[in-house]
Amino acid sequence: MRVLVVEDEADLARQLKDALTDAGYAVDLATDGEEGHYLGASEPYDAVVLDLGLPVLDGITVLERWRRNGHLMPVLILTARDRWSEKVAGFDAGADDYVAKPFHMEEVLARLRALVRRAAGHASAELACGPVVLDTRSGKVAVAGQPVRLTAQEYRLLAYLMHHQNKIVSRTELTEHLYDQDFDRDSNTIEVFVGRLRKKLGVDVIQTARGLGYRLSPPADGA
Ligand code: CA
Repeated sequence: MRVLVVEDEADLARQLKDALTDAGYAVDLATDGEEGHYLGASEPYDAVVLDLGLPVLDGITVLERWRRNGHLMPVLILTARDRWSEKVAGFDAGADDYVAKPFHMEEVLARLRALVRRAAGHASAELACGPVVLDTRSGKVAVAGQPVRLTAQEYRLLAYLMHHQNKIVSRTELTEHLYDQDFDRDSNTIEVFVGRLRKKLGVDVIQTARGLGYRLSPPADGA
């Protein structure tokens, strides 16, 4: 899952980026509204954390422009506490949720998890595919009840496939949603990660759709 953070306060921006990276997201950072608007309009993010008070272009304008141009990714806005009118303006502009500053990082993470999984059509924080269970809260994965240790990259890959299970996901789509913009992208890496992930899971849940990509679905034998 790839997230855009638009925040002009340097300390807060770094804290958000670190916390989201630790939670398993690929994170891009923009420090003013114009850069944020550009990135959100040109890259396929799974969610956006958008501060409202931004230089160059304010957050409400950024959000209105995205929505007007059909960019429908989930957006969590950061508002100033005690400014109810900001929250109203944010929702009217197309925000999906808000957190008031100062906030606890855990709350931002929990709200983002909920937005990302709802956008993918999942109500529960625990995603399951046959014997494979991924807990989006703890970042833990188990197969038939046995914990499986994954690297950060493998977890990101599995989390994206679990959110989009039973659908064919192309290698390009995976590359775009697993890496931040600064990453040197090479779609062959995806194949390597898929290979490692299959080995670690030990069950046949990731099918190759030749020439198209991959599809995660429960094993045919129901194991
Ligand atoms: Ca600000």
